Amino acid sequence: MSAVILPGSTIGLLGGGQLGRMIAIAAKRMGYRVIVLDPTPDCPAAQVADDEITAPYTDLEAAKELASRCDVVTVEFENVPAETLEAIEPFVPVRPSSQVLRIAQNRIAEKTFLAEHGFPVPNFCPVRSQEELLCAVSEIGCPAVLKVATGGYDGKGQGRIEHPSEAEKVWERLGKGACVLEEFVVLEREVSVIVARNLVGEVAVYPVAENTHVHHILDTSVMPARIPSALARQAQELARAIAEALDVIGLLCVEMFIAQDGRLLVNELAPRPHNSGHQTFDAAVTSQFEQLVRAICSLPLGSTELYRPAAIANLLGDLWEDGEPNWVKALELPEVKLHLYGKAKPRPGRKMGHLTATAVTPDEALQKVLEARRRLKMATQGSTGVGRVC
Ligand code: AMP
Repeated sequence: MSAVILPGSTIGLLGGGQLGRMIAIAAKRMGYRVIVLDPTPDCPAAQVADDEITAPYTDLEAAKELASRCDVVTVEFENVPAETLEAIEPFVPVRPSSQVLRIAQNRIAEKTFLAEHGFPVPNFCPVRSQEELLCAVSEIGCPAVLKVATGGYDGKGQGRIEHPSEAEKVWERLGKGACVLEEFVVLEREVSVIVARNLVGEVAVYPVAENTHVHHILDTSVMPARIPSALARQAQELARAIAEALDVIGLLCVEMFIAQDGRLLVNELAPRPHNSGHQTFDAAVTSQFEQLVRAICSLPLGSTELYRPAAIANLLGDLWEDGEPNWVKALELPEVKLHLYGKAKPRPGRKMGHLTATAVTPDEALQKVLEARRRLKMATQGSTGVGRVC
């Protein structure tokens, strides 16, 4: 039996962005205390947590202070150095473990792990030298995608190679470090599945989400995905099997490609809450954030059932280009919910918040959330276009 970490205990968060903020909201609602470690003071999660430690993730003393004040520690993103987690693992339960992060934060390790366990991935080759690059290009063929092994996200750190003659230039642009070269997959759709798993091996799987990206950044996500139910079950089973093989305690989001040739392929693993699961905050019996709290605290997992189909649309900083978005107009749609992350500066491409709409069908939910987002650009009555609507 694993010891239950009861409400009233303290959860430590490594990372205080929007995912940390929503974890903290769920944890606070259940009566936990929350301490956040993040390099930026007043980060989104710190605004709702009990306390914050402002320090870089590489500061082992700060991480040990967090460990000494918490009953369990989790991460809100996979690029917290695995060494930091390793340094505190002797002092506090860290869920997911440094071992899981080590795999998820390096594309070579991640794809090798998946391939070795027989999970379907796009054809790929590791690239750590010029020789390996040339060898990979002849093995994979063109078009292909070159991705940095560590640190890339939202399409950063990757480049498409149309012809073998471009390979060296693209590798140079990416810094000539360790990369993976993978086949360019002609996509029918992109989907993802979030799985929760606790210490006793109980597993809960969310409905499949269907995702669209703009400039490699998630733009919309619909749950449940509009795909045949047999394929949805296959995606859910795949995600469950990967979570078990990885021995994840907490959440695992498995991003997948449905290729036009019918293959279901794993693109990426994220051992944390995921943008494509934000629908669950308003539309599921148990949100992904509450589920994470339950999983890491050894509580029974909650139902992943959706009350209604739901869609989210991300709100990037670009929306603020002409002044404050027209929140009133969007919220005139009564089934639309607004989530803002408390970030002070709306920079282009920065995730500032999202809208969620629920409806009778996934199509309707998507149309509704897109309509709400369009309304944010409408001029506010009596405003100069830059004012705040009170
Ligand atoms: P990633 O950073 O690996 O999640 O990639 C970001 C986005 O780029 C994905 O969501 C896809 O839209 C696209 N992408 C990545 N890898 C491939 C690939 N091998 N073939 C086609 N599209 C890809």
